[in-house]
Amino acid sequence: KHHLPPDRVPKESDMELVATDTVRLRVPSGSTAVLVKNLYLSCDPYMRSRMTKHDEPSYVPDFVPGTPISSHGVGKVLDSGHPDFKVGDYVWGMTGWEEYSLITSTEHLIKINHTDVPLSYYIGILGMPGLTAYAGFYEICSPKKGEYVFISAASGAVGQLVGQFAKLMGCYVVGSAGSDEKVNLLKNMFGFHEAFNYKKEPDLNKALKRCFPEGIDIYFENVGGAMLDAVLANMRLNGRIAVCGMISQYNLGKHEGVHNLLALIAKCICMQGFLVSNYYKCYREFEEKVVQYIKEGKIVYIEDIAEGLENAPSALVGLFAGRNVGKQLIVVARE
Ligand code: NDP
Repeated sequence: KHHLPPDRVPKESDMELVATDTVRLRVPSGSTAVLVKNLYLSCDPYMRSRMTKHDEPSYVPDFVPGTPISSHGVGKVLDSGHPDFKVGDYVWGMTGWEEYSLITSTEHLIKINHTDVPLSYYIGILGMPGLTAYAGFYEICSPKKGEYVFISAASGAVGQLVGQFAKLMGCYVVGSAGSDEKVNLLKNMFGFHEAFNYKKEPDLNKALKRCFPEGIDIYFENVGGAMLDAVLANMRLNGRIAVCGMISQYNLGKHEGVHNLLALIAKCICMQGFLVSNYYKCYREFEEKVVQYIKEGKIVYIEDIAEGLENAPSALVGLFAGRNVGKQLIVVARE
């Protein structure tokens, strides 16, 4: 409905559901657009940044009040002017929070090759969050067998996958999460060696020392703030930190300072940020590998499914309170 100030948690009432009665169910002739029926829509933390108006253009455009929110989604093609997409194909890419979308920017629209796995996976494990976990872990972390790996927001869309990749690599894997239910999932569903509830253990340094008496080789950073500081104090020589996200900072406006950065020098740590959008060239390689892992039962994935567009605002807002258990998505239609 409106832009948000940078220092406020989004509320459901910042969004509204609007009914319209005219739907154009054809692609205009001569256009290369694709008309989709939206099936699944994604809720992602980066969408918070799009709710605030930026003076300088960001890496993703700000939302425009009065127009549908956009995010990744899975849809079925109803009409197409594009040679790569046929009627009846399933696709994933940027779409609108609406029942039907006319997608004019098809550069990052991807045809779904495997329809024998849940289609919703294409906004999770086989979509943007999955590719984030894959590129972040294998490309940025340079992992080696036997290394000590820590992941924050570990039960989420990205984290649960990073942990399982690290396990497959033969690493020792620990995750933090914000509830006992999530900690239980990390240990008993995703096979993490250890996990802790950071809300119950405010002394993060102590929790990390207990889990990593010999220190951390790889930190997959999803939250920032106090967790980053505590991790810096527990890194090993030549450690790597992949800065994927810092969700604890997204609603603060003025970001918190980090105190332990000197550890980067003394321990020769490499700390590197990355954007998944730079890794779409690896998408098909990633997709084939992970589909195989899913079919072989080597990787499992948990989704938190909100039913209907009417529940979309609460699902999105819930990310910032940790209400989601696994990948948060919205079902608009199943067929
Ligand atoms: P999640 O599914 O993990 O959902 C967000 C989770 O963050 C919540 O469930 C909650 O888990 C945790 N959280 C929320 N607020 C706070 C807080 N104040 N302090 C600590 N934890 C908090 O999200 P994703 O897996 O989709 O995303 C994980 C991270 O990866 C985000 O930072 C996101 O921005 C980033 N990202 C970066 C990309 C890139 O290209 N660099 C691409 C995609 C994602 P809990 O209950 O455990 O606190």
